[in-house]
Amino acid sequence: MGRHQIKHTPAVSVVIPCFNEQENITTLVERVEAACMQFASNSFEIVLVNDGSKDHTWSMIAGIAGNSQHVVGVNLARNYGHQLALSAGLQICRGDIVMVMDADLQDPPELLGPMLSKMQEGYDVVYGQRLSRAGETVLKRASANIFYRILGKLVDIQIPCDTGDFRLMSRRVVEELNAMPERYRFIRGMVSWVGFAQAAFPYERDARHAGKSNYPLKKMISFAVDAVTSFSTIPLRLTAHLGLIAGLFGLLTLGWVVISYFTGQTVGGWASIAALVLILGSLQLLMLGIFGEYLGRMYMEAKHRPLFIIQEVRSCQIGVERENP
Ligand code: UDP
Ligand code: MG
Repeated sequence: MGRHQIKHTPAVSVVIPCFNEQENITTLVERVEAACMQFASNSFEIVLVNDGSKDHTWSMIAGIAGNSQHVVGVNLARNYGHQLALSAGLQICRGDIVMVMDADLQDPPELLGPMLSKMQEGYDVVYGQRLSRAGETVLKRASANIFYRILGKLVDIQIPCDTGDFRLMSRRVVEELNAMPERYRFIRGMVSWVGFAQAAFPYERDARHAGKSNYPLKKMISFAVDAVTSFSTIPLRLTAHLGLIAGLFGLLTLGWVVISYFTGQTVGGWASIAALVLILGSLQLLMLGIFGEYLGRMYMEAKHRPLFIIQEVRSCQIGVERENP
């Protein structure tokens, strides 16, 4: 009898969120399965989470899960976004060690072996750190670079640069993540927040195997705002700082006006007033916007809605208890 039946939990779970990845699923499962066979003997599961894809991703996942002991298919009720799809996978998976990767094969599954060896040196988290980013636009690289630098300045915890969600985590780290109730999830930051011993694993990031990126600029910006607002309240304090600066500037201007008055010159023009009013007005609206960003998030969090809804779990694993909604 294998370890599978005795412990009811696999040694390794690989969790993969999938959104419109029909061209990648077959190769993905083949490569991940091969890597797991090699490095996790027979005790592994691959959890594929379909995040409301519009193409044939789910029917492909369901087909594979129905035939394979190792593949678990999770179908979400709609598209909840990458981080929530990943959270769903982390809730469902049962492995002692959990590997997270993307469905587009940008993160090579074959690194499971070397990353597992790194874990055995006594780490709870081994995160992939990108040395290169093949096939990504200059804009994407530059924006990612600036983003991680700014984030580093704003947050108290150390969020390593050039990392994605590609990583290995121990069961206790995954349990801690699952216990975090927040809706706006910046998972790589949350993992740093958990702590324990964490190590970087440098690797070369491949280009997308097929299909196109689901992170257009708009999504990237909202992801960046999520990251900052989930880990920092410094932007809120900016109001006070700007107020101080504007006040000092106002005092200086006042001094200038008074001196001009007594030296017989008048400070001219409504243009200067209009400029000042516009600048101050825009600063106030900007700060109100930042407040609104935090307030809106508090409102959404206060509703305590479930993070995601699972429509179906497809699995033919034996001996693994999994609640099916
Ligand atoms: N993804 C998802 N839901 C979404 C968008 C993306 O589950 O709404 C998945 C996608 O299938 C992939 C991973 O998240 O496995 C990363 O997405 P993508 O490759 O498009 O992002 P990029 O690598 O370009 O940052
Ligand atoms: Mg990708």
